[in-house]
Parts: sequence; structure tokens; C-alpha cells
Amino acid sequence: MAPRLPQAGGDWPCERGDRCNNPAAPPSPLAALASRGQTGAMEFFPEQARARLSIGELASFSLTGTGGRPGTAGLWRTRLGQQWHEALREPGAAPAGTRFEVAVEGSLHWKDWQIDLQGRIDQLRDEEGRTCIREVKTTLDALPVPDEDLMAAHPGYLAQLGAYLRLWRNAHPESAAPPAGELHFIDASSGISQILRPDPETTAAALDARLDELVAFLDARGAALARLRELPPPAAFPSLRPGQQGVADRLLAAIESHRTVLFQAPTGFGKTGLVLEAALESLRRGLFRRIVYLTGKSTGQLEVARQLAALAGDPPGFRFRQIRNKGEHCINHEFHCFPEVCRFLDGIEQRWTPAAFRSVLNQVSFNPSLEEVREAGRRETVCPYEITRSSLPFQDLLLGDYNYLFAPGSRGVILDTPGFDPGETLLLIDEAHNLPGRAAEALSCALDPRRLNATYHDLAASSAHPRLLHAWEQLLRLIDTLGPTESLAAAAEDDLADLAAEFARTAENHPPERHRLRPPAADDLQEVLRLAKDAGVPSFPRHGWVDTNGVVRLTCLDAADWIREVLQPFAATVLLSATLGPTERFARACGLGETTSIDASAPWKFGAYRTIIDTRADTRYERRRAAVPLTAATLARLAESLGPPVVGFFPSYAYAGLVLEQLSSHHPLHRAVLQPRGADLAGQAAFIEESLVLADILLLVLGSSFSEAVDGLGGRVRAALVAGPSYPEVNAIQRARLELRRGAGRETAFHETYRIPGLIKVNQALGRMVRAPGQEVAIVLHCRRFAEEACRSLLAPDLATDAIAVDDAGFEAWLAATASAQSSITQ
Ligand code: SF4
Repeated sequence: MAPRLPQAGGDWPCERGDRCNNPAAPPSPLAALASRGQTGAMEFFPEQARARLSIGELASFSLTGTGGRPGTAGLWRTRLGQQWHEALREPGAAPAGTRFEVAVEGSLHWKDWQIDLQGRIDQLRDEEGRTCIREVKTTLDALPVPDEDLMAAHPGYLAQLGAYLRLWRNAHPESAAPPAGELHFIDASSGISQILRPDPETTAAALDARLDELVAFLDARGAALARLRELPPPAAFPSLRPGQQGVADRLLAAIESHRTVLFQAPTGFGKTGLVLEAALESLRRGLFRRIVYLTGKSTGQLEVARQLAALAGDPPGFRFRQIRNKGEHCINHEFHCFPEVCRFLDGIEQRWTPAAFRSVLNQVSFNPSLEEVREAGRRETVCPYEITRSSLPFQDLLLGDYNYLFAPGSRGVILDTPGFDPGETLLLIDEAHNLPGRAAEALSCALDPRRLNATYHDLAASSAHPRLLHAWEQLLRLIDTLGPTESLAAAAEDDLADLAAEFARTAENHPPERHRLRPPAADDLQEVLRLAKDAGVPSFPRHGWVDTNGVVRLTCLDAADWIREVLQPFAATVLLSATLGPTERFARACGLGETTSIDASAPWKFGAYRTIIDTRADTRYERRRAAVPLTAATLARLAESLGPPVVGFFPSYAYAGLVLEQLSSHHPLHRAVLQPRGADLAGQAAFIEESLVLADILLLVLGSSFSEAVDGLGGRVRAALVAGPSYPEVNAIQRARLELRRGAGRETAFHETYRIPGLIKVNQALGRMVRAPGQEVAIVLHCRRFAEEACRSLLAPDLATDAIAVDDAGFEAWLAATASAQSSITQ
């Protein structure tokens, strides 16, 4: 029987013939989900010991990365491959009678599993009565090289050929002669061909090795899914606070019936715990097979990891892994990931075998620390990041930064994880109010002429092809002609894009030796290639401008289409935050279609804030300096009347610096401190802890980690002052965003561009002041703009107030009443 074109349904040819139990539709709760997510990834039916995937997926299936993962480099190679495949279809380029792109499908049985496969043979021909199967592969290796070297470097290609040969043989038992197989390699830069005819034992062994790895994975995942079913119902909290009752059940019902759920609850409510409880219950019930939990800040991840460890129990009932970035894993003398300069990568395929992986798994703990993984990397002489990546397929929950899905260059870390299928995955996005901004950042790029110039010299020193050098020089010349401007002319932007595309095209034919470039130069190259086109990213509104340092910036103004594209394949998504802002506006900014919302409130938060709007101050940018003495005096009065520590929140570091100077010169008895720049997580927490003990007044910047991520302030501050509603700075980007939204009307455009982002920062910061019942804090909203109805309507409900100070007497009266109320509570 000849191979046949794939048909819809489950009627596939099978080695087992009549003995095969091959139902068309798997009886699993996931069947319902299959229609919700669209994915081309492997399908896996553990109840029937059956998996379905493409031959390409099988050939590259490798838990240790030795099969060659498709990624950015893979996409580049894919484009090259397409060009060569087309060229080889030209008349005379292949032997007469050759058929191209021949569809093939069938089943293989391996260690109790039925593996259903489908693919396309590049070229098929009859040669002296024997079928010959040829696969065409482009390579960046300079050909010719010894056949053995080529085979050793590409075990996945051998496995792919092996799969075609075996399927063909199974489908043609009557054929006297087994089919012959060829690998036709083409050197991408020179076009030189090299044809390999590996012996059948070699291709069969390569295929068997892949099947072994696949089946080891399927066994492990099958066992994991069975284990998940046996989990006791998860409970995030031993007892529930007022407001928490029933929220996990409502969340579970929402994700069962909706693709997109918005979950809003105040800081301190227990959002993370409740959403994890609902998500783990959905795994237990078989609604999903995996969870991905993304956060915008690494501080948030630590808290989620802590809660997960508590929920997992001992022994752990499920597996999770926090994905740290590659730089944190690095143990090489420099962070430059090329085999030529990193011994932990050079020849890794010989050392990082399935056996070595199993041995490492036995040596590290359930959720190993970064240092444990780095130590294992030193022991095995294997890049620790590869160890982490190899462990990802076995996790029930992956925890990481937004970038692992939303940054085009990093998203392969999750999406290319072997066996990962978004269509059976529940995606949880924490601090989701940050998502539109972070996704836009991931699509923006910056070209610094000084760095590009240094990269030119690096390229020249690495003997890059003259055409590549020329393309880079053209780009550099154009950038040199662009002076600082708030808005690049459309023609200049087009020229930039054209020259970047020209460089990308040249780089495809004359690839640079990236390992010979310094790490910053390799990054610059990547930035220009991204400007040429991020693969798979839909077009988006972008604003070009040049800053005062001559850096050309192409800033994404609206990432809604991109966010929609990223979320679309997932079975369901929950976006959670304390402050999504108006939900219709948030849904629009994320390109969301139909959503369902759950808004939870914490009754104990009402009354915890004693708030006044202080209209004595005008903190608009042009009036700010004049208001500094009043702002400093108000902070000093808060510390005197209510007692230290007092926190002042400012829209910018410079503004906070002015107030610090004023406090030092006019209120020297109050020790004031300003948040340090560039502190890491531990440094930020240490600063907060020390300042709460030693300082009277802490000055923090709204929107920074100090106001949105460090939890140490909750319940430990007597009063907080917010110097203005923190509207974004008026600059070229905000003006461009305003212009983009102008169609909705001037007031709406202003509201969405300035007020909403500003008030989200204010609500975020103040929400963290009260994290548990019984805590309370006095709040001074220190600017007359807070009294405008449009601004007040955006304040969190628990901050709402009728108290307004229009003069010093009014403020002092409120202060006296607040001091009295606080002291009665303290007593
Ligand atoms: S491959 Fe790993 S160890 Fe080597 S430079 Fe990159 S991150 Fe560091």
C-alpha cells in the first residue's frame, strides 16, 4: 500500500493491523479543549498509550537539545531551506521523474506506545526498480566535510530519514527491495552540495534513539498526569479571610467556560494563592495538562514559588520550575554562548546525553536552586541553562517572566519545550496591568550609533564578508545623518527598515561568525535583524525618534495585536492584578475579544485608609519646583504628628531628589532617605528594612520596584504622601500615543494616555500599604489634580474620600483628627 495523503480523523495505517485499537477521538476532557486552542504541536493520549506528531517533531525531539531545536536560528535556516527547496524544483535540478513534497503518514510501535506520524518527503524517485527517498537540508557548515562529521552533527536528520524509510517499508511489505535514503546537504553561503547515503543501520539507530527519548518523555508525562489526578484538592490557605470565600470556585468555573478571564482583587487579598488553588484544581480534574505562570517582576516570582512549594506538599504532588534567565545561569568566564568560546557548550552533545540528564535529576532537589543547577553544570561540563531547559518538559507548571512568551527572541524557551502544547495549557498572567507596556517594550528597539560603529569594527576584525560590511556601513551612515528629533520622518524610517532588511538578506547568504564578535556586537546584530522583521510578529504602530544622545529609537505604541496573537493558542488565560484600571480599556490594550471578569474585594480594607486630597499643592511639571517647600513641610508634619516612618511617593527620581534636598536643608531633624538606583532585589529589600528602622521619611519613585514589588512596607508605615497623580512624562512617545488615540476624542485620548497609567501606579503603591486586616495608614493625595472628578473616579474604592484640604487649617484639622484616631487604635 502506498503512503497516502493525510485525511481528517483517526483512520491511520498501522503496523498492528487488526490488533490496533485506534479510535478516532480520544475520550478525554482535553478533547473539548482541543477545539479551543489551535496548535500544531504533538498530541498525546496516555489513556490509549498513543501519541501523534509530525516526523519533523520526532526527528528533533530531544530532551537534552541534541536534536536541534527550532528557534530564531532555526527560523533563519527555515527561510534559507525554503529558497533552496524551491531552487531544486527547477527543471533539471533533480533527476527526471522525481516527485516533490510527497505526503506520508503511518504508525510506529515502540515500547507499548503507538506513535502516529505524518510528514512530507522532499524528493521521491524510482531508481533501477528501487524507491529512493531524499531529504534536502541546508547547512551553515562550509561544505564539503567528511561524511562522518556531517552525520555526527545532524543526528536529527538521520532520524528523520530513518522514519521515512521505516514508514515506507511498513507501507510496502510486498516490495522486494527496501527503499534507499539520501541526505542532500547544501552549504547556504556557497551553494555547494554534498550527498550522503547513510547505511540503513545508521538511520535506524538514529530513529530508535529518538523514539527512546520520546517514549521516556511520554511515560513520564503519562505518570505525571495520573499523579495529578490523585492530588488532594489544593487549599492555598488554612482558613479563609472575609471576601475570599468562593473566589477559587468562581475562578474555576470561569476558566472552564471562558478563554479569557480578568481577575481583579486588591493587594493583600490573596489573589496569587486563590488563582493557584483554582489552577491546580483544574489540572487535577484534567481540564488542562500544564500551567504557565508569568510575572512582570522577579520579586513576584519569588512569592509565587514560595506558595507553590507550600501547595506541592512533601513529597511534592506536582512539579514546577522557575525559569531564570540565561545570564543568571552562566558559569563561563564571559556570557557569550558560542561553542568556540564556551567549554560548557563546546561538544555538549557528547556529554549531555539522556543518561547524564537522568543522573543530574537524581542529584538535585525537587525544585533546585540556581546554585545547585550551576554546580551540576560544572560537574558535567554542561551549560546550566541547558540543564534547566532539559527539565522543563517534565514540569506541570512553568514560572517565569513575561518575556518567555512576549519577547520574540525569548519565547522559544517555553514554546519549543518538547511536548509543550499551548492548546492544553492554562496561562496565568500576574500583575497584568503591566502587560501592554511590557509587550510594547519587547517589540521596541534602539540603535546606538556608537555601538553600531564598534560593531562595524568587530565585523571587520572577524573577516566578515565585504557585502555584509557594506550593508552595515550603509545603515550606520544613515543613522549618522539623523540628529535628535521627536519624530523621525516617515521616509527616514522606511530607509532604516530597508537597510536593516538588506543587512538581514546579506547575512543569510554570508552569515557573520558571531562567536568572533564581542557580546555587545552580537546583541547589536540581533537588534538590527529584529528591526528587519521579528518572525511571526504582526505589524504594529511604531514611533521613530532620536534621543539627545543620537540613539535611534523605534518604539511600539500599541502591542494589542501581538498580545492577542500570543494568547490565542492557549486553552485559557487568566489575567490578574490589583489594578487593571477600567476593564474595557485594559481588554482593548491587550487585543482581547470576549472576556469574563471576577472582581473581588477585601472588606477589611475599607476603613483601613484615612485619605485626604490636599489641593494646596500643584505638582504639574512646570509648577513642581514651587511646590517643593510645601511638599517637604507636609512630609515633615506627617512624621511629627503621626510618627515615623512616613513614605513619600514621587513620579520621578529627580522630583524626589529635590524634595530630599529641601528636607535636608529645612527639616534637618527628620532623617530622610531616597531609594537607591540600580539595587538588586536583595538590595531593595535591605534598603526598605533598614530605612523603616532608621529613617523618618522614605522617598520612593512610583512605578519602580520599590513601590510595586517590595512588600516590606505593608502595615509598617503611619502615613504616605503621593506627590501628584504620576501621569507619564510628556514626551515624544506619549504625544504619539495621544495622537494614535485621537480618533476616540481628545478627552478620552488624554484619559487613556495619561490619567489611567498614572492612577494605576498610585493605586498599586498605596494598595501595598495595607496587606492584612487590622493594618491602617493615613494617605495624603498631594496635588489639586486629585480633586478632579476624572482623576478621583480612577482611585481604588478603598481610597475614596470626601476629605479635601484647601488650606493649611484644613490640613491641620485632618491631621489632628487622624492622629487622634490612630492613637485610639494603638491604645
Ligand atoms: S552557554 Fe551557558 S555557560 Fe556558556 S556562555 Fe552561555 S550561558 Fe554561559
